[in-house]
Amino acid sequence: MLRCTRETLPDSAFASAASSTRFVAILSIMPSVFIKTYGCQMNERDSEAVAAQLVAKGYTLAATEATADVILLNTCSVRDMAEQKAIGKMQNLAAEVRKNRPDVVLGFMGCMAQSRGQQLIDKLPDVDLVIGTQKFHRTADYLDDIFAGKRDKIVDTAEEQGSEATIKEHILSGNSTDKSVTGFVSIMQGCNQYCTFCIVPYTRGEERSRSIAGIVEECRELVQRGVKEITLLGQIVTSYGKRDIPVKDGKSAFVQLLEAVHEIDGLERVRFTSPHPKGYGDDLVDAYGRLPKLVESAHIPVQSGSDRLLKLMHRGYTRERFLSIIKKLRSVRPEMGITTDIIVGFPGETETDFEETLSLAREVAFDNAYIFKYSPRKDTPAAEMPDQVPQPEKEERNARLLELVNSIAAGRYENYVGRQVEILVEGPSKTNSARMMGRTRTNKIVLFDGSQRHRGEIMDVKITRTGSFTLYGDPAILM
Ligand code: SAM
Repeated sequence: MLRCTRETLPDSAFASAASSTRFVAILSIMPSVFIKTYGCQMNERDSEAVAAQLVAKGYTLAATEATADVILLNTCSVRDMAEQKAIGKMQNLAAEVRKNRPDVVLGFMGCMAQSRGQQLIDKLPDVDLVIGTQKFHRTADYLDDIFAGKRDKIVDTAEEQGSEATIKEHILSGNSTDKSVTGFVSIMQGCNQYCTFCIVPYTRGEERSRSIAGIVEECRELVQRGVKEITLLGQIVTSYGKRDIPVKDGKSAFVQLLEAVHEIDGLERVRFTSPHPKGYGDDLVDAYGRLPKLVESAHIPVQSGSDRLLKLMHRGYTRERFLSIIKKLRSVRPEMGITTDIIVGFPGETETDFEETLSLAREVAFDNAYIFKYSPRKDTPAAEMPDQVPQPEKEERNARLLELVNSIAAGRYENYVGRQVEILVEGPSKTNSARMMGRTRTNKIVLFDGSQRHRGEIMDVKITRTGSFTLYGDPAILM
């Protein structure tokens, strides 16, 4: 049974809580919350902001779902598998956790909450709360209402003007042993590209950008709290501010934002994800030559090497244009680490189309590629296209492309052996806490024998060997 004091609940909430079936006991501590996140870095960032907002309102964060008073699943809809995982998880929570602790509050947030809304409660009656992608900042209020017994079930998937500027709180420990030295900043919400395979414009809404001043203020605060590297986040970051901020001296709003963030004293590195190839105008390529904090790393989703498929996908570029962007970037920064997303088995993909993707992967020599088997999404044009590719063919193409990508990447990692590289030390390795982990400017993980005192340092290491998408280093002896 949850217990809260009169001091920790607003008066009105306390009054209702006293009569609520959920809180028949005298309340003495604030509820604890556990958020499980599915999907992309934007989802991770949304969860972090919600957690920070809840903490600011007096809620605590539970270390595990077993001890939490509230369990929220922040969901992803990009592929069916991600949705099924979250639904399966909620079914388990309802069957296992609810059985022993009937007062636990269960909720869905994010993309699947947005696209399915009330249906989720109809399907899973144990769910108390469904919060859409423009309502993350309302989570604490809704939980207060549920705990106060004011409302039983809440579904809110409405649009909300200005919601793009509400994801700005961070959970950063001030403790030197687990202090974050990297931070993620959400610069915009939504997407206007309407790729025929993609559900994002329907779950995240139209593109809405924050102001440059608001973003810089958030970045500056992170740097004051010890952050050395900032990653700017958006569904298509390169479309940032297109509608609201005019091009100035030939520079897009996004490049103007990069310049403003680059100015922040104490910030060492700037990254961004994910861009769209159409955003790589000469102004952005030039920015790599002018802004030293902008690291040599780009995750540029290509999706396919076939012009025919790129057109069917509504991507807005050709294979040739993509290759010319890579060439320009490498001419400005030869070390550039380039990764991508590729979809295999898009409707109508023939063996010839797929071979064009294989040849593009060879030509670019990606440092890594995230390969997705096409998953039909509700209400997207591609789901209705003829010639859907059978699952075994998707699996087979996935395996072939993965083998190629892995072998090219292994060669690119091997090229680092014997070289000295700059890393930002992030903390102990997640898989072996006896080792420290840092990241190269080209976004490669480096493990080395070091200690906590290196956390947050930019240092040079000599690469001695490679593992799977990992480099092993020795702190370099400096002259
Ligand atoms: N900004 C990115 C872009 O340029 O398209 C989109 C990011 S999306 C959330 C992440 C990746 O998921 C996409 O790049 C795409 O490869 C993959 N994806 C999106 N919809 C998909 C679908 N229906 N089936 C399989 N993969 C999909």
